[in-house]
Amino acid sequence: MGTRSWWGWGWAENAFPDAECAALGALIPGLPDAPLPVPSVPDLPAARVTPPASLAPIISDAPDERAAHALGKAYRDVVRALHGTFGSAPDVVARPRTEQDVVDVLDWAGPAGVVVVPFGGGSSVVGGVEYRGEAPWLSLDLTALDRVLEIDRTSRAARVQAGALGPVLEDQLRPHGLTLRHFPQSFEFSTLGGWLATRAGGHYATLHTHIDDFVESLRVVTPIGVNESWRLPGSGAGPSPDRLFLGSEGTLGVITEAWMRLQDRPVHKASASVTFPSFEAGLDAVRVLAQSGLNPSNCRLLDPGEAGFSGAGGSTTLVLGFESAAVPVDSRLAEAVALTRDHGGTPTPERGTSSPADAWRAAFLRMPYQRDALARMSAIVETFETACTWDVLPTLYNAVRTEIGAAIERVTGSPGIINCRLTHAYPDGAAPYFTVIAAARRGSELAMWDEIKSASMTLLTHHKATITHHHAIGRDHRPAYDNQRPTPFTRALTTTKQTLDPHNILNPGTLID
Ligand SMILES: Cc1cc2nc3c(=O)[nH]c(=O)nc-3n(C[C@H](O)[C@H](O)[C@H](O)COP(=O)(O)OP(=O)(O)OC[C@H]3O[C@@H](n4cnc5c(N)ncnc54)[C@H](O)[C@@H]3O)c2cc1C
Repeated sequence: MGTRSWWGWGWAENAFPDAECAALGALIPGLPDAPLPVPSVPDLPAARVTPPASLAPIISDAPDERAAHALGKAYRDVVRALHGTFGSAPDVVARPRTEQDVVDVLDWAGPAGVVVVPFGGGSSVVGGVEYRGEAPWLSLDLTALDRVLEIDRTSRAARVQAGALGPVLEDQLRPHGLTLRHFPQSFEFSTLGGWLATRAGGHYATLHTHIDDFVESLRVVTPIGVNESWRLPGSGAGPSPDRLFLGSEGTLGVITEAWMRLQDRPVHKASASVTFPSFEAGLDAVRVLAQSGLNPSNCRLLDPGEAGFSGAGGSTTLVLGFESAAVPVDSRLAEAVALTRDHGGTPTPERGTSSPADAWRAAFLRMPYQRDALARMSAIVETFETACTWDVLPTLYNAVRTEIGAAIERVTGSPGIINCRLTHAYPDGAAPYFTVIAAARRGSELAMWDEIKSASMTLLTHHKATITHHHAIGRDHRPAYDNQRPTPFTRALTTTKQTLDPHNILNPGTLID
């Protein structure tokens, strides 16, 4: 345990020291010699609201609390914090200790016209936990609601409060030999409620790709009452009430509890890495694997740039893994590796900690701290992700590299880097995840990134690739989501929002108007 960074990723103690920022920055031509200083908590205007005395025990207007709840953890959030230019901090932060506290906050905020932005771990990368309007606003931090309340061993499910951070949740399941096994890269600093509200993607590359797949039922506090669905293993009873709230990003209600499907802890694991002569050959191999029914738990294809950057070598590399609580998985791994050979795959022997798979895993966890270090050096370091069908994927990959490459050069004056990995694979398509690294002009980092991001949204829309496979919509993805969403559905969603949130206080500006 350490001190949570108010401006950057994770623990403040893990942030790169100045010298390491500079050393990292020296790898990218065109960056300044010294990092921007670690920012101090800024002076904030006085809070514009006074919640009723009954809420006082759960309310804080301390500047460090307000600053830590003002932004998410996208690159543009880090840059705004570094330059002290974030628009508005919440007037107050509330930390409910019970579901009734949540009800009380909403009951007060609606008639008082106070905007409420639910806040889990605050790891949003799409502007999901900030507010860009004029009204006074409250950040509703749910992390005190973090208990596993009930375990049904027979059905292998648990009732969990939504504010549980990943490790807090797994720590409570471990003594029962159970696990949710939903491991997004942000696992340590994101919550069950945040995962549900954004339809997060976990470490499973196939089969259970999204948190949705583990949901049995949800309990949601809306401004007009509590919505609780029945626990069911499956149901054909009309449109699913859970589906309405999964991905609702705090706009329709506050998720307070969920019954989640659990798993026994895996005891059988096997992994391998396979290299390919080209990214296209790797794509063919992953498609065949995704259509084979072998269902690897890990199936990340790294293009040569991504493989090189994460220390897994400089060739297209597939990081492949299988796990099971019940049966050995070595034969499934062997079958999977055999399938890749038909597409030019060459297995790389696992060699303890030095294998490409291990190198990639270690780099994966270090990446967010590295991102912050490079942001302090005024580099652009950000990702965008999507999903599309296999017939479109090679064209999309090449278009991103060519057109976004050109946009980076136009905006920054130098070519920059675009790397790609496939994070999730389906029988009919996959989710490519792109990383952009380039030298920005100090002071113009945000404007430059916004222009590149805008080009990426236009390109994805043109190819009918989704604006997000698992990063959500928030405020930043609105332009592309507005194009992607069918018109009758927009009208239905708008009417639903008006019904559930009649004062329009819940996270306005996110998802829909
Ligand atoms: C370094 C890094 C790595 C990441 N890796 C992944 C990844 O591997 N997979 C992935 O899917 N995402 C990833 N993300 C994005 C982010 O972690 C996810 O969107 C995550 O699900 C957010 O959870 P959170 O608890 O931090 O939610 P927050 O960021 O606090 O909130 C996200 C949204 O959900 C709403 N919300 C939060 N809690 C509730 C609730 N209880 N009820 C209603 N609404 C609520 C908020 O209002 C907001 O709109 C990553 C982000 C970073 C910075």
